[in-house]
Amino acid sequence: MNKPEILYMVVPCYNEQEVLHETAKQLKEKYTTLIQQKLISEKSRVVFVNDGSKDTTWKIIQELHAESPEFFSGINLAHNSGHQNAVLAGLMTVKDICDMAITMDADLQDDINTIDAMVKEYYNGNQVVYGVRSARKTDTFFKKFTAESFYKFMKIMGADVVYNHADFRLMSRRVLQELANFKEVNLFLRGMIPIIGFQSCNVYYERHERFAGESKYPLKKMLAFAINGITSFSTKPLKLITSLGFIMFIISIIAFIWSFIVKIADLSVSGWSSITCSIWLIGGLQLLCLGIIGEYVGKIYAEVKQRPRFIVADFINDTGKN
Ligand code: UDP
Ligand code: MG
Repeated sequence: MNKPEILYMVVPCYNEQEVLHETAKQLKEKYTTLIQQKLISEKSRVVFVNDGSKDTTWKIIQELHAESPEFFSGINLAHNSGHQNAVLAGLMTVKDICDMAITMDADLQDDINTIDAMVKEYYNGNQVVYGVRSARKTDTFFKKFTAESFYKFMKIMGADVVYNHADFRLMSRRVLQELANFKEVNLFLRGMIPIIGFQSCNVYYERHERFAGESKYPLKKMLAFAINGITSFSTKPLKLITSLGFIMFIISIIAFIWSFIVKIADLSVSGWSSITCSIWLIGGLQLLCLGIIGEYVGKIYAEVKQRPRFIVADFINDTGKN
C-alpha cells in the first residue's frame, strides 16, 4: 500500500462543553488505531472549530491542543456564524495541508466507527464519501418525519441532495480546492458538494442520540435551513409562479366565455360579467407578469453567485516533450 495520507477532521462546535471531552477522547482512540493500521498519516489532526460559543468550549479546545498537539488543533471564529459557515471555515483552513477531510458534528450523533469505511473508500478512488443514515431509530417521529419530508421536498424543488445524508462526509483535497471556487454566501453544503461531482459513494451508519447537551437546531432554525436550501439551489418556486399565472390566465378566458354565455342568456345581474372577467383576467395577468419578472430575477440570482461554470476532472495532454 502507498504511504498513508493525511486526514483532517473538521468538527464545528457551538456551546458543546458537555460533549467535547468525550468526543475528543473517542476521536483520539480512533486516530491512534488508524495510524497504527497505517490507514492515515501521523500528521493527521482533528480541528475543532469554535463557532462563537458562549460557554467554555474554546477554553476546552485550547486545553486539548496543549495536552495533545499531535492530535488536536483549533480554530476560533470571531462570532457565531452558524453550522454551515463554521464547517466551511474549517475546510478552507485545512484545504492545503490535508489529503482528505471529514466533517462531523461534535455531539457524537455521527458514528465515529464509520470513519474507517470512509477512509477505505477514499483509497478506493472516491473523492467524496457521503455518510448516509441507515436508521433513524433514536429520532422522534416528528424529527424523522420532518427530516424525511425535507429530503423529498428538496428533490421536487430541484435541489439535488443525497437522501438522508447530513454533513458527515469525507472530501478529498481536490474537492476542497474546487469548493473554494464556490463564492456564494448562503451556504448549503449538502447541495453544493454533489454539484462539484467526481467519483463518490455512500457509506451507511446508524445515527445515535446526542451524547449530551441539547440540539442547536430547534424547529425554527430547521425551517429556515430548509427554506435557505431550496431558495439557494433552485429557481423552481419562481417558475411555479409563472405556471400559476398561466393557469389563471386560461381560467380567465373560460370565465370570460362563461360570463358571455350567461349575459346572452340574460341570467346575470347587471355588472356581474364585467366584474367576474376583470377579477380573473387581472389576477392571471399579474401572476404571469410576476412570474416573468421572477424568471429574470432567477437569472440574476444565478449570475451573482458566480459559481464555477465547469470543473475539469482530468486533463490528458501529451505535448511530446519530457
Ligand atoms: N453548530 C455550530 N454553530 C451553530 C449551531 C450548531 O457550529 O450555530 C454545530 C454544533 O455544535 C454541532 C453541529 O453544528 O456540532 C450540529 O448541531 P446540532 O447537533 O445542534 O444539530 P442537530 O444534530 O440537532 O440537527
Ligand atoms: Mg446533533
